[in-house]
Amino acid sequence: MNKKGIIIVSAVVLVVVGAFVLGFADSESAIGKIRYIFFAAKGEVANLGAKAPSNTPQLAAQCKENLKRIQRGKVGAGEKRGNNIGGVTWEEVCTAMFPTEVQLKSNPARLEQMKPKCPCGGTYQLGTMQEMPKCSIGATQGSSSELTHAIAGI
Ligand SMILES: [Zn+2]
Repeated sequence: MNKKGIIIVSAVVLVVVGAFVLGFADSESAIGKIRYIFFAAKGEVANLGAKAPSNTPQLAAQCKENLKRIQRGKVGAGEKRGNNIGGVTWEEVCTAMFPTEVQLKSNPARLEQMKPKCPCGGTYQLGTMQEMPKCSIGATQGSSSELTHAIAGI
């Protein structure tokens, strides 16, 4: 039996045992609860097993496009603060990328939603103003440039 199966069966067993202990195993509501927990557990397991798609030239191109958008955001942030040296924050970059978005300031949850996401599950690092932003996938998946998640400029 695989891991998913074990987790689902364990959840069901726990609920059935719990229901007997509480003395309402034969009531409709207990069965409803068991079904609910069974499907909830199944959903959780499906989420745990969800993996970002593996790299393809199309997805790598999307990631490169994100990196270019991020870099343009960095340039915009630099223009706004009047210099392009040193570090830069996601708040500055996203504010430059989404000028009509008024809820970004000191709002980490909203910022997280607005940040571009690598389609293969890589994580982005802004780098300093002098560097290009990077994706954690980078060029590790083979040397083929069409699978590389990195840019040299915009
Ligand atoms: Zn990427």
